[in-house]
Parts: sequence; C-alpha cells; structure tokens
Amino acid sequence: MNALLARLDEAADCALETAGPGHLAYIPGSGLYSAALAEFYNRAVNRYGGLASVAPDLAALEESVIRWMARDVCGLPEGSGGLLTSGGSMATFSATVAARHDKLGEELAGGTVYTTAFAHHSVAKAARLAGIRAAHIRTVPHTPDLRMDPEAAAAMIRSDRHAGLRPFLLVATAGTTDTGTVDPLPQLADLARREDVWFHIDAAYGGFFRLTARGSERLAGFEEADSITLDPHKTLFMPRDGDPLDQGVGQVE
Ligand SMILES: *Cc1c(COP(=O)(O)O)cnc(C)c1O
Repeated sequence: MNALLARLDEAADCALETAGPGHLAYIPGSGLYSAALAEFYNRAVNRYGGLASVAPDLAALEESVIRWMARDVCGLPEGSGGLLTSGGSMATFSATVAARHDKLGEELAGGTVYTTAFAHHSVAKAARLAGIRAAHIRTVPHTPDLRMDPEAAAAMIRSDRHAGLRPFLLVATAGTTDTGTVDPLPQLADLARREDVWFHIDAAYGGFFRLTARGSERLAGFEEADSITLDPHKTLFMPRDGDPLDQGVGQVE
C-alpha cells in the first residue's frame, strides 16, 4: 500500500496544482479538504440513492441541494427542479434533450440550435448527441464586447423558420470560459419567449458568482431561463469527475 500511495503522490505532484495560491491560469479548481472527506465518506458508506424509499434522509439532502441551487442561487420559481450529473457537459446535454423533447417531440428533422463562437464546446457536442445536424447548430454573431447580438439572433431565427427549419433552443453563456463574458440574458430571454424557443443558460463557471453582490447584478436574468448549467467543481471548489455534486437545474412544468 505504501509503495502504491508513494507512486500516486509522485504522479499527482507531476500535474497542474489548481488549488495552489499562485494559480490563475485555468478554471477547474477543486481543492477543499472538507469536500474530499465528504467524498471519502460517500464512497465508504456507498448507499444506493436511486430511490428515496431506500435512503430517505440522503434523498432529502440531495433535494435540498437542488432546491438551494434552483431557487436561492438561480432564482427559479417554485416547483423548479434539477438533477445532479457528472459535470457541466452532462448538465447541458440533459437540458438539450429536455428542450428537444419539449419543442420538437419525436420528429427531430429541421431542429436548429443558436449559440455563439464563445460557447463552451460541450454546447455543440450536446446538440450533436441529441441528434441535431451539425449544419443546424448556428453561430450567432456577437457585438464588439463579445456578447451574443440579440438582434442578429432574432434575424437568424426568423430567417431559419422562414426557410422551413425548426428553431428550438437558444443557448446563452453566463461567464464564457475564455473571457468571462456574460451574454445579454434579459434580452435573450425575451427573444426566446417571443420565438417560442427553449432558453438555456450555460453558467457552468459563472453561475455561482450570483452568490456575491456584484455577481448577482451582472448575472440578472437567470429567473427567465428554462434550464441552467452550474458547475460546483468550478466556482465552489468541489471535487471533479463522476461526482454527484456537479449539477444542472431547470424549470419543470
Ligand atoms: C467548464 C465549462 C463547461 C463544461 O463543464 P465540465 O464540468 O467540464 O463538463 C461548460 N460550459 C462552461 C462555460 C464551462 O466553463
């Protein structure tokens, strides 16, 4: 065991230390000792949580985390729900499938998605996995401040619909991975409602800044989303990968 642990330590030392005090380079930043202990505990007791009846208190704990994120962090209305996934990519994929189901039903032909060049690559990947043609994943132009241009988005959606396509999903980013830019959420929410397309906000990295005064000002408009991706293994320093603490929340009927 000692030899094995020494070998693992050696491997871990030969890697980026995102929790180091001088580290500014890259978003992933897990490193909380308390979270590591919680993870250890979880793996050790290894309770099955797929049914509330077999672990009622643990299910309630999970529900309270989802409620906190949906209602308190994102300001979504009463009755909103969510699920815990392995990360932001899976959260956006879940939201994309929900949008597709809601707006397109069983017939996927012509389904069209709108986002910007600054969206995380998982947005296009989710659309492809959900059965959307690559040619129908639209890159909406951005304004000089690198935010999605709502008028350009409106024009694209209308012209696609005119051409017989079926616009069904608009994906805004609240804190782009490269520049931290926040798309104009209230305007895009209005547009989505007018055009009857699902409005998803990818807030994987930026969403939890709503817990701060400045962040909640910059990130106004979450309340209007149909679904939101949040990534506690970014801004909340939770452990990464295959972990139930990576989450997405959204409104349900
Ligand atoms: C990191 C990130 C993702 C992907 O999250 P994973 O947890 O790595 O799957 C998606 N969108 C944005 C904006 C991100 O910063």
